[in-house]
Amino acid sequence: MKLNLNIQPLSTWIKTGKEPLVISGPCSAETEEQLVATAHLLAQTGKISALRAGIWKPRTRPGEFEGIGSIGLEWLKRAKEETGLPTAVEVATAKHVEEALKAGVDILWVGARSTANPFTVQEIADALKGVDVPVMVKNPVNPDLSLWVGALERINNAGITKLAAIHRGFSSYEKSAFRNEPMWDVAISLKTLAPELPIINDPSHITGNRDLIGYISQKALDLDMQGLMIESHIDPSVAWTDAKQQVTPAALADIIDHLALRKPEVKNAEVSDKLAELRNQIDKIDDLVIQKIAERMQIAEKIGQYKKDNNITILQVGRWDEILQKRTTYGKALKLSAEFTEKLLELVHNESIRRQTEVMNADAAQGQAAEKLTHA
Ligand code: PEP
Ligand code: MN
Repeated sequence: MKLNLNIQPLSTWIKTGKEPLVISGPCSAETEEQLVATAHLLAQTGKISALRAGIWKPRTRPGEFEGIGSIGLEWLKRAKEETGLPTAVEVATAKHVEEALKAGVDILWVGARSTANPFTVQEIADALKGVDVPVMVKNPVNPDLSLWVGALERINNAGITKLAAIHRGFSSYEKSAFRNEPMWDVAISLKTLAPELPIINDPSHITGNRDLIGYISQKALDLDMQGLMIESHIDPSVAWTDAKQQVTPAALADIIDHLALRKPEVKNAEVSDKLAELRNQIDKIDDLVIQKIAERMQIAEKIGQYKKDNNITILQVGRWDEILQKRTTYGKALKLSAEFTEKLLELVHNESIRRQTEVMNADAAQGQAAEKLTHA
């Protein structure tokens, strides 16, 4: 399936000459001095294409700093006049859209909490009807590709063709090194559904930690994302919001300087020959892996038949423990992490059990099929 989005290329609405494309600025506009001074330092690096700042901040708990509000739009205007940088703000209501447009904000974005709520997205979309302004849509807080797609469709249906997605990671119950789990596969699925839609990575909100921003930025570029949105503050240690993840403009320049740009299309014939040869090897191995797994499944079915004939249960925990133990040790010797081998085995084992169950319940299968039909 492909999405039917009507999109203009990124280069029609933002300076894409800079590599990589970077949008930067403070998490929140706090004071006129803080915003304008940060903007000047960022502009001086010569590495950024737009200035971001949160004016209305969606905070998890009440009583926290909820953004400076409309007055910040005046500061952004000044920052733009003095630096020439186009400006970007988050909008979450129709009123925000109206005020931001009136103040001449160049790019709007929909925040992660808003994307999770179709009512909010529709309100924003309705306010955008008849307006030609670029809009970036952050992924929803929860890892639900449909919500992200739905928000992009709503904005696109309102006539916004200068559209991009922002990948800022997903809330997860499990503790990890990241503030929001990247779950790269969700962003890759979006790219597969809409190859023409630019995706900008937001390593600041993924990591929540300035020390990891370079690492995630590199990964995003290696996955062929079109740009980065990185929070920068003139003095992160005193930032009113997201202090741990903001970097000074100088640190931002350093992060960008250390990024390696790899091209998705290889122009050099020699390199591309080598790549083709390696890909050929991978293809052959993949075919072999699939063939062997299919053989393994056939044996599993034979075992199922044997267990059925002899009245033995399908799952025997002792045997499964033994398989896990032996294979992960073998895997480790071949430089495969135990975690990886375990995951792979679990997938194969689950399918084996499913096939064995099918064999054992062959008589009951007709009944089950009928049941499925009534539940469909
Ligand atoms: C932000 O960009 O400062 C922000 C609030 O981000 P998100 O919507 O991704 O949480
Ligand atoms: Mn922030």
